[in-house]
Amino acid sequence: MKKTLKQLAIWLQEEEPNLGDTVVTGISIDTRTIQQGDLFVPFRGEQVNGHRFVIQAIEKGASAALWQKDEPNPPQNVPLLFVDDPEQALQQMAQAYRQEHQAKFIGITGSNGKTSTKDILAGTLAPFFKVQKTIGNFNNQLGLPITILQLDEDTDVAVLEMGMSGFGEIEFLTKLAQPHLTVITNIGEAHMQDLGSRAGIAKAKFEIIQGMQEDGVLFYDGDEPLLQQLVAQELTLNTVAFGLEPSNALYANHITATVDGSHFTTHGAIEGDFFISVLGKHQVKNTLAAMLIARQLGLTNEQIDTALRQVVLTDMRMQQVQGTNGALFINDAYNAAPTSVKAAIQFVATTDIRPEKWLVLGDMLELGTDEKRFHEELAQDIDAEDFAYVCLFGPRMAALYEVLKERFDDRHLLYTENDYAPIIKQLQQADEKAIVLLKGSRGMKLETILSAFTS
Ligand code: ATP
Ligand code: MG
Repeated sequence: MKKTLKQLAIWLQEEEPNLGDTVVTGISIDTRTIQQGDLFVPFRGEQVNGHRFVIQAIEKGASAALWQKDEPNPPQNVPLLFVDDPEQALQQMAQAYRQEHQAKFIGITGSNGKTSTKDILAGTLAPFFKVQKTIGNFNNQLGLPITILQLDEDTDVAVLEMGMSGFGEIEFLTKLAQPHLTVITNIGEAHMQDLGSRAGIAKAKFEIIQGMQEDGVLFYDGDEPLLQQLVAQELTLNTVAFGLEPSNALYANHITATVDGSHFTTHGAIEGDFFISVLGKHQVKNTLAAMLIARQLGLTNEQIDTALRQVVLTDMRMQQVQGTNGALFINDAYNAAPTSVKAAIQFVATTDIRPEKWLVLGDMLELGTDEKRFHEELAQDIDAEDFAYVCLFGPRMAALYEVLKERFDDRHLLYTENDYAPIIKQLQQADEKAIVLLKGSRGMKLETILSAFTS
């Protein structure tokens, strides 16, 4: 964006500031990553008060800053825009900028696969449009407005990730972004604590339609009955279902994994053979969502095919890493919830990339009172014939260990509560024959294990 401080004051219905002609070209809430021309937005956090960093922000190149009105001692001779509440002001500015922006806005939510779908979609569209997307995981009530305010004025497509942990949050985000097209990637079990049930989670994700443009289209995981039910209740909503079941408007089969990625065949809305450099059926489903949107934006099958072949995904999502022990690691240790862990285990169980399969699983966090059951239930996908070795890490994995002990003997199963060393030692036995899945919640830091085999 490119706005004078005066224009921002009009958006916010605040008094005209001093030095109102100052031009702002971006937004930042963090002096460590500030860019020349940014507007610095300070928050009063629990630990630190961002107002203390305003001078530093200006010294590092910010052209102006917001200032909460009741905060004492505003610095002199610095372009400041006084507001009641900086967080609200940030959201209000994003809303105003959104209103005047001409881009196509795409909103993506779901329990798993938001970032993956965002990256696959943005990568697919990039050769044909000027695309900007949510950076990293900036998907909440602060991240989304910042993402919107960072959009260049000539951007054609904005691909926005929308995350949540309770009811009302997606509604807020979607009303801010007013997307033309929306995606619900899937329904899992994360945030069960706050939402009560999978049906509650589905309902919370479904809020995404509340801010969608009237002629917009919702693309959703049609393999999920809870979403089918919600869609059936919305008689006037345009929807397109994707998935692996033939009942979907677009579905994929003949999914085969190679060292480079997945080949698959699609039927229905788009027919053909495609390739994407990611692994796992779940990632193919994310790809289907991206393909549907690409087509909605006018790309031909040939264009989609060519674009998919050169897409690269964010680190730690089914990322292939060659280990120094010879084994091929599948680093999916960015995060873990039952659905995504099962999807990853199933991928390793069925792949032909390498004959000897290893699992390294860490605790799944934030699952609420049923966490023990969720850990135990992973056993349903872990057959002794499929896996050469299973390593479990973390206090919650003790529950799974109790179940697996019945089918694996000590030479094929290892449990440690908080020590990576025994797992690293065991993995030194893995070689060229092995494929090793690393999967656990962010807090378990399983990449620590990988780092022993990458340097
Ligand atoms: P977050 O809520 O942390 O932002 P996210 O929704 O952005 O997560 P990703 O970061 O894309 O999701 O992926 C998280 C994990 O879920 C990865 O391990 C990935 O392999 C897995 N995953 C991705 N897509 C799906 C899917 N459609 N179904 C099940 N698991 C998936
Ligand atoms: Mg994400």
